[in-house]
Amino acid sequence: MSDGMNVPTGQVLIDGEWGPPSSGEVIAVQNPSDGGDYACLARGQASDIDMAVASSRAAAEGDWGDMPAFERGRLMHRLSQRILDHVEELALMEARDVGKPLTQARADAVACARYFEFYAGAADKLHGDTIPYLEGYSVMTFREPHGVTGHIIPWNYPMQILGRSIGAALATGNACVLKPAEDAGLTSLAIGELARQVGFPPGAFNIVPGYGEEAGQALIDHPGIDHISFTGSPEVGTIVQKAAAVFRRPVTLELGGKSPQVVFADVDMENALPFLSRGFVQNAGQTCSAGSRLLVEDSAYDRVTEMVAEKVAALTVGPADRDMDCGPVINKQQYDRVNAYLDLAAKDGLTTIGQAQLAANAPSEGYYVPPTVIGDVPPDHRLAQEEIFGPVLTCIRFKDEADAIRIANGTSYGLAAGVWTEDVNKAMRLGRKIKAGQVFINNYGAGGGVELPFGGMKGSGFGREKGFEALLGFTATKTIAVKHG
Ligand code: NAP
Ligand code: MG
Repeated sequence: MSDGMNVPTGQVLIDGEWGPPSSGEVIAVQNPSDGGDYACLARGQASDIDMAVASSRAAAEGDWGDMPAFERGRLMHRLSQRILDHVEELALMEARDVGKPLTQARADAVACARYFEFYAGAADKLHGDTIPYLEGYSVMTFREPHGVTGHIIPWNYPMQILGRSIGAALATGNACVLKPAEDAGLTSLAIGELARQVGFPPGAFNIVPGYGEEAGQALIDHPGIDHISFTGSPEVGTIVQKAAAVFRRPVTLELGGKSPQVVFADVDMENALPFLSRGFVQNAGQTCSAGSRLLVEDSAYDRVTEMVAEKVAALTVGPADRDMDCGPVINKQQYDRVNAYLDLAAKDGLTTIGQAQLAANAPSEGYYVPPTVIGDVPPDHRLAQEEIFGPVLTCIRFKDEADAIRIANGTSYGLAAGVWTEDVNKAMRLGRKIKAGQVFINNYGAGGGVELPFGGMKGSGFGREKGFEALLGFTATKTIAVKHG
């Protein structure tokens, strides 16, 4: 039990009941702020996934599938409210589990509630068309749920990604099987328990924690799944897509990015500075849409990068519960990975122009990487090309508009981008030319954007989550043509 929310850690949620996984084993859960184990998650395996899929199939073809859309929406509204009632407990749990500062964890809990609220309202508003056709025919379309949807989420924003993915799938009448990340799965269990309490029918929302290679692999290989929604690394994304190909079933893949912030000399720095200096720090840089490449026009390069470096140097990194600017990264592996990039920067003679401070008394076993700004990185350097997934900003110069577009588009990713200029014509030209699923002009992130379609171009993946568009991905169009003479 954890944090007074009656969350049965170490268990799986299948068919409305908590119980031990069939392995009888658990996975230790670590607190990245101090490196200590403090809880456990069930080590779910193929047999648990089998039971979860069978339960969701029964729900999709029974109580849940038959429920009128507005009643699904009401249940989701209740869940949203219940999440809001528990924001503080959920935030504490997420802060400890992920290592994110409390303020950020609180924002995630509120965003999770907002996803369920948004999709609750949408549940009975997704409808088909009638299509003018031949004389003597009436033709109509229906948006039908896929049936049983599998959801594999990462550890960086468990509540938000659960909300956007499960929210849209439930709203459209799918029954869901969720495999949370082994590194941060506790809030998923908490939200599953709240869903149970508000009265979702058994099987509408099953949860099987476990290792990616076991529970995750069993889910993507299961013949009884109709759609897979995956957020995580490109490598596992490829595994998920290959597994889906065997069954010829649809997938949504959200695989991260190396998102550029393109700054022209006429930038309004008063507006831009908070976004430029924090866009790569949020969640210790472990954000798929982190603004991690700062592209600056030559004539303003020194001024802009100095301002950003100075701002970053004033930030503090420390334990999640002390709610500083930045928390630790998730685990030892991620800590080593980010430090390897910093070592590479040093080896290649790149200059650190700004670095945040480590808080006094930060536990020595915590995974702290101070946010770091690296100056004058060649656009083809690994630091400018690869997703570091840590608080590292790479600064790059550009000559003119064409150069900016070329560099902005010069990675394998295409998730998000920011453009900073007072020239609306230039801003729109870049907005149209940059290959990314979202482009923000004179802002970044649009305050979360539950309503805004989100997803990748190029190597960042495909399919859209968030907004109304996500509902299309969780449904298939059925056309019925009636010949009545
Ligand atoms: P990951 O391995 O892709 O994990 C994402 C999810 O997939 C987790 O639930 C994971 O379970 C599961 N998984 C792993 N192997 C699987 C398999 N063979 N079949 C089915 N599911 C599987 O990502 P990660 O280990 O958390 O992080 C590695 C890198 O991915 C990061 O450094 C970062 O670059 C990137 N990443 C991107 C995002 C994003 O939002 N785009 C989010 C997280 C990570 P386990 O956690 O239990 O292995
Ligand atoms: Mg992993």
